[in-house]
Amino acid sequence: MPLVFQAAAPVKSLHNNAGLYINVPFCVKKCKYCDFYSSFITDELLDSYKDALIRSIKQWGGKFDRPIDTIYFGGGTPSLLSHRLPEIMNAINESFNILPDSEITLELNPSGDIKDILKYAKKSGFNRLSIGMQSGIDNELKVLGRTHTVLDTVNSVKLARKSGFNNISLDIMIGLPDSDISSLKKSLDLLLSLKPEHISAYILKIEEKTVFHKIKESLNLPDDDSVSEQYLFMSEYLEQNGYEHYEISNFCKTGFQSRHNTKYWKLYEYLGIGAAAHSFIDNKRFFYPKDLKGFIKGNEPEFDGEGGKQDEYIMLGLRLSDGISGDFPQSFMEKCKIFEKNGLMKIDKDKIRLTNNGMLVSNAIISELLECLE
Ligand code: SF4
Repeated sequence: MPLVFQAAAPVKSLHNNAGLYINVPFCVKKCKYCDFYSSFITDELLDSYKDALIRSIKQWGGKFDRPIDTIYFGGGTPSLLSHRLPEIMNAINESFNILPDSEITLELNPSGDIKDILKYAKKSGFNRLSIGMQSGIDNELKVLGRTHTVLDTVNSVKLARKSGFNNISLDIMIGLPDSDISSLKKSLDLLLSLKPEHISAYILKIEEKTVFHKIKESLNLPDDDSVSEQYLFMSEYLEQNGYEHYEISNFCKTGFQSRHNTKYWKLYEYLGIGAAAHSFIDNKRFFYPKDLKGFIKGNEPEFDGEGGKQDEYIMLGLRLSDGISGDFPQSFMEKCKIFEKNGLMKIDKDKIRLTNNGMLVSNAIISELLECLE
């Protein structure tokens, strides 16, 4: 008997605590692979942006009364705000209902005056750092156009530990030019020696309007099969070393999932403030335009449609090792069974989840499944 599917029904609960995201779209130098919205910095621009953030935080504070239990400063390079961080966090604490034991994350590039940044991060109440390591090989960092070295990463983590941070995430990239399993293992061994509580691992994608896109032909990029091999090797290697593969690109020690990012995948609510920041509140998605000067002048966010329906639940939920459950049409379940036969999915009693092999081709699987909902 076909199971009932209510396409229009929101599947999320409104009763979870919300997350707060602050976008800081500034970078010292554009990395060659990056298509994120970001601008170069001057002290003046950082000051005006800080003032604009505080103004918007106060405005939102007057009308947003959900308890908040995660705060995430991302970018860009939010650590560039440095001595401006305490003032922004004060405004947040005064304007919102921030719950005790909130997870408060700062993204940090391991270059610049790390001691100074860590001092202000501690003073502001951050209790989690997400550090952009990207590779454990200096030549790869150079090719990527990063401003730091491997030693900078090692020293940043040491300094962070010394400053009392006991929840550190490291970012790493796979599928880099000239990379193979042996170079990846070298990076992973360096990463593991730093004992991060959390690891985010991204496959390099050549995006339009990046330097890498222009010089693509001259980059010795591994082919799709080699990238798949790297992903599967990394997943197994990190699992063998005590990390739980809890999301397609994320691994953690027990209890150290990113509570903030999990809100995105579980369709919980979050408020994003800053140029190019996105929000999801009351089943509505909205965003501030990618316009730094406009945000400083007081641009309002723009509506981006309704969210929280079953297609989003499937798209985001299948990213998690937890998987999805619910009433799905017969054709959907039949497709899942074929994926399971091919080693791409696991169907337990009430849960459907992707295997590591399935995670590699998640986009193709999800789009096939979504066709069954049309
Ligand atoms: S990768 Fe990060 S640091 Fe590099 S340009 Fe993009 S946002 Fe900036």
